[in-house]
Amino acid sequence: MAVSEEKFQQVRIVERKDHSPDLWSVRVRPEAPLPFQPGQYATLGVDYGSRRVERQYSIVSSPLEPELEFFVELVPQGGLSPLLHKLHVGDEFHVRRQAKGRFTLDVESGHKRHFLVATVTGVAPYMSMARTLARQAEAGNQPDAELFILQAASRSWEFAYRDELDGYAAKYGWIRYIPVVSRPWEDPGWQGEVGRAEDILRKYLDQFELDSTNASVYLCGHPQMIANAKGILRRRGFQKEFVREELYWLPSTRAT
Ligand SMILES: Cc1cc2nc3c(=O)[nH]c(=O)nc-3n(C[C@H](O)[C@H](O)[C@H](O)COP(=O)(O)OP(=O)(O)OC[C@H]3O[C@@H](n4cnc5c(N)ncnc54)[C@H](O)[C@@H]3O)c2cc1C
Repeated sequence: MAVSEEKFQQVRIVERKDHSPDLWSVRVRPEAPLPFQPGQYATLGVDYGSRRVERQYSIVSSPLEPELEFFVELVPQGGLSPLLHKLHVGDEFHVRRQAKGRFTLDVESGHKRHFLVATVTGVAPYMSMARTLARQAEAGNQPDAELFILQAASRSWEFAYRDELDGYAAKYGWIRYIPVVSRPWEDPGWQGEVGRAEDILRKYLDQFELDSTNASVYLCGHPQMIANAKGILRRRGFQKEFVREELYWLPSTRAT
């Protein structure tokens, strides 16, 4: 299918970090600034034969950074992620000029506390939020929001941004980070929380005293985590308008 070139810009990879054989981050330099809000996604495209294969990816970087960053999981049978996985520093791909999405911090409710729950790459939009607030804090503007980030992964090396998030949590009072590992038998050195995100959701709602009167909740990544967490939150009395979700793929496609 023909693509309308004016809707895209070409970006060049300036950095690539492989976190595991199927998880990596890339930083790209755009030709022109891509306006976006923390939490939004960009549409990436790679030309394959006569067509452009496109998918959405949450933006990891802050709008205050000159480069864009993405955190990608390889889906071996997938259309785009194997093409992206082959690209290295100096290679180029396409990005739609318009960022999209409504998975941004809830400012409508007046809630100052934000409980951000992710599976693996689902931490990407939260990184953009955290980096933006951290830059504001560095500039002397105390953030008017508290972030509580709960990230689940099979093994600890999949967290990718753990050092950065631990660093913010050590430095600032407005951010907490809880990583949880679901396959500790494959990661014997792991000493943190064990289970799935939804297994420890209640514990941290209680510990941080988060409820529907003071907090909004965000769920990003694996569709089954999102479905399970939504059930727990509903039973806890969270109204729909205080729960935002970003499904990375459709539920029927993957056994849990
Ligand atoms: C708003 C939004 C933001 C997203 N942000 C990110 C991001 O930051 N990082 C990221 O890696 N992905 C992200 N995704 C998912 C991404 O858009 C692609 O769907 C994913 O990279 C797979 O693309 P693919 O072309 O390789 O596979 P596809 O050809 O699209 O899919 C092949 C099959 O795998 C299933 N599938 C898709 N993703 C996964 C997965 N992760 N695990 C298991 N099965 C899967 C599909 O449902 C399908 O059945 C996001 C999706 C959305 C909607």
